[in-house]
Amino acid sequence: MHEDLLLFNSIVDELLFQEKENPVPDPVKAKELYEKIDLSLPENPTITSEFSKALKDLVLKTPKTASNRFFNQLWGGRNSKAVLGDLLAVMLNTSMYTYKVSGPQTAVESEIIEKICKMIGYSNHSGGTFPTGGSMSNFMALIMARDKKDLEIRNSGVIKTMVAYTSFESHYSNAKNASFAGIGRENLRYIPTNNKGEMIPEKLEGCIKKDIQKGLIPFYVNATAGTTVLGAFDSVKELSNICKRYELWLHVDGAYQGAVVFSPKYKSLLEGIEHSDSFSFNAHKMLGTPLTCSLLLVNEKQNLFNSFNNEADYLYQTHSDNYNLGKTSFQCGRRNDALKFWTLWKAVGTKGLSNIVEYLFETSKIARNYVRNNPNYTLYNDDHSLSICFNYKEFEAKELCTKLYYAKKLLVAYGSFKGEEFVRFVTINAENKETDILNFFKILEEFVEENKLSLQKRTILKVS
Ligand SMILES: *Cc1c(COP(=O)(O)O)cnc(C)c1O
Repeated sequence: MHEDLLLFNSIVDELLFQEKENPVPDPVKAKELYEKIDLSLPENPTITSEFSKALKDLVLKTPKTASNRFFNQLWGGRNSKAVLGDLLAVMLNTSMYTYKVSGPQTAVESEIIEKICKMIGYSNHSGGTFPTGGSMSNFMALIMARDKKDLEIRNSGVIKTMVAYTSFESHYSNAKNASFAGIGRENLRYIPTNNKGEMIPEKLEGCIKKDIQKGLIPFYVNATAGTTVLGAFDSVKELSNICKRYELWLHVDGAYQGAVVFSPKYKSLLEGIEHSDSFSFNAHKMLGTPLTCSLLLVNEKQNLFNSFNNEADYLYQTHSDNYNLGKTSFQCGRRNDALKFWTLWKAVGTKGLSNIVEYLFETSKIARNYVRNNPNYTLYNDDHSLSICFNYKEFEAKELCTKLYYAKKLLVAYGSFKGEEFVRFVTINAENKETDILNFFKILEEFVEENKLSLQKRTILKVS
């Protein structure tokens, strides 16, 4: 073990150095890269020096998601206190299903869940769990909603036609989840959004009424707190009133920007959250913990038990249900995703978490102001988003992003909203400074200047 830890340290030292020197690795074609690195699995053991070399090579040729040129996804950077917790979780190698094998780690998980439930104003019977990610959080919420409508479904399966609602801008996991849950993709309704990308409550209500008239059974609304492309917030308050009126479960998918709950300044974006039935967010997005760290909070914990509890004599042999977290989780064996969040929170305090959130909004403001104040840019979204969606001059976003990648300049992606395609610049790495943000635009502008003759022009939609 000792020897491998020394190797680990030496590889990580080199990685941290290269991240600065060489922030975007050579974008070699997949097939070529596979052949370049010694990935073959041999019959006989590999000698130590070759093993170390192959491993180092593999690590250094992997895209560097913590560098100051990575803006491609809704996560990035590396919070060292959280990394510390995750490394220790690997060393401890517990599984979170029982107190018997995870001991105080169950308390680590429960402490985080209780604290957040209090912060959002959930009931005294609230609870939660750490699912594998935001997609799974959405799935578990959907299952609880389905079972709450009719507990017998757990035995009989879905017999009547049940209908779920989400917005056009919501995460794609909603469609898959409707299929997994036996609801059916065709029974997931996509509600239109306003020009900011927020679900229109009146359209939702109209749709629910129509479905009831048809004899169908509406049961679930998935609201988004930070949509995947624009970073828009649905109005939890208005949607919760509709859900109360028609007895629908309201889940708030805050995978992207739900961590605003930690900031006194921005938590009003979740106004009405205490009236939701469940809420999820990914600490590996805004808070910068390693992947994955997703939390699902539930206003009435009993719903988690109802849908996910199952007796298993070979597993649950000591302690009560409150300490055996497998009774409220989807998986059996489950990674300790809580410890990395706990080490971060313990180290920086709730104030520190709030600082991270507010700092990210500061950096997004720098980027947004740059775009707003420069006539060569067109901005497509509003404040309160860490995604800055823009087009530069008349150039096509898709090709620009791809060419920036192949030229080893920047990792950034494109998105679209109501038929317009644009660059989605994500300012979610809390280690980035103002200079890193401004450097993004400088690199992009210089690249366009040097390559403008070979770049595609976009078709500009007429605004009516
Ligand atoms: C990222 C994201 C998800 C999915 O989370 P995973 O952890 O990647 O499964 C769900 N919803 C929204 C709004 C997201 O941005």
